[in-house]
Amino acid sequence: MKRKSTKKNTRTKKDEQAKRIKYIFIFSVLLIFLVYLFAVIINHVISGGKNNVKATVNDENIGIIQDYIEPNEYSRPQKKLKKVNGVVVHYTANPGSDAEANRDYFNNLQYENAGKDRPVYASSHYVIGLKGQIVQCIPLNEIAYASNSRNDDTISIECCHEDNTGRFNDATYDSLVKLVAALCDEYNLKKDDIIRHYDVTGKDCPRYYVKHEKKWNKFKDDVFMYMKDGKSD
Ligand SMILES: [Zn+2]
Repeated sequence: MKRKSTKKNTRTKKDEQAKRIKYIFIFSVLLIFLVYLFAVIINHVISGGKNNVKATVNDENIGIIQDYIEPNEYSRPQKKLKKVNGVVVHYTANPGSDAEANRDYFNNLQYENAGKDRPVYASSHYVIGLKGQIVQCIPLNEIAYASNSRNDDTISIECCHEDNTGRFNDATYDSLVKLVAALCDEYNLKKDDIIRHYDVTGKDCPRYYVKHEKKWNKFKDDVFMYMKDGKSD
């Protein structure tokens, strides 16, 4: 009897030890999981609350003219642009007008809209002129009113054009290639992240590159070719 009970005691002890190890194991796994979960949540909160978008892009090779429009509710609401998932290309739909005039139009909406029942909301981060000059109207860490549902996560570029076809001349086109390349480089964008206003709303904008799909695809190829060549230098 005595021997039997000792055996039983030993077994119980072993069982208890095994149980304890099991509990410690489960507890450890649970703890690791909780620490991981906590880290994920903290990381999410930090990245969501932090504004990673800088006001300007490196423009060593482009020469950007910064002429910010005045903060106002119709064209520069100063709402933060927190992330950049794409670049949207537009045409001004105003043949012969140049970059500075379009920049002034955005700026003057605050006065033009006075007393109007249906005020116009419009702007763009950049306007590229007929001589290839690039005018930045809005810091990149603020949204522009250009691309409807994509205002919150894209940078917009308006391009001037000489006539009703909406075709960009060589100077405008070359600057557009360089600017979009710089933006793709800065925000790690892919070819498919370069879109037309048309791709957001179906609007006939930028007209020539909506009508000529091949020219649009060629443009995106030119951007990535420029990036590759620039980097290999
Ligand atoms: Zn447009």
